[in-house]
Amino acid sequence: MNVEAMYQEIILDHYKHPRGRHLLDAPEGESYQVNPTCGDEVTVQVRRDAEGHLHVGYEGQGCSISQASASVMSEMVEGMDVANADAVRHAFVEMMHSKGAGEPDEDVLGDGVAFIGVAKYPARIKCALLPWMALQDAQVKAGIPSGEEGAGR
Ligand code: ZN
Repeated sequence: MNVEAMYQEIILDHYKHPRGRHLLDAPEGESYQVNPTCGDEVTVQVRRDAEGHLHVGYEGQGCSISQASASVMSEMVEGMDVANADAVRHAFVEMMHSKGAGEPDEDVLGDGVAFIGVAKYPARIKCALLPWMALQDAQVKAGIPSGEEGAGR
């Protein structure tokens, strides 16, 4: 199996078996984001525990790329401290803007590296980024410091 086919398998697996898909009992921040060109919707919720670890809830509907990306996001950042979660998000956003030419770091991105192929298709980049934009916006709404300005709207 070539790398591209393997990456497609990973995306499909996250789509069919989403990880961590649930809403939180007591979110500190929530963001609902829509990608009108594809019809994707995602709601991401965040809260921070006493140790400063980030907890993420989400639900959504839409194409396999958007929903698999939400699953990967949850798997990667759940339970991380905020700085590390921000680093993962930055790495994912950077990869999606690489036009497929970047060399994503699997140690940082985990299954997120599977989306490098998607970065070659401008129409699908928004699908992959949607849950990560929602994560950033939810953090801003929760007053959880984020390494970026603005709320991705
Ligand atoms: Zn989509």
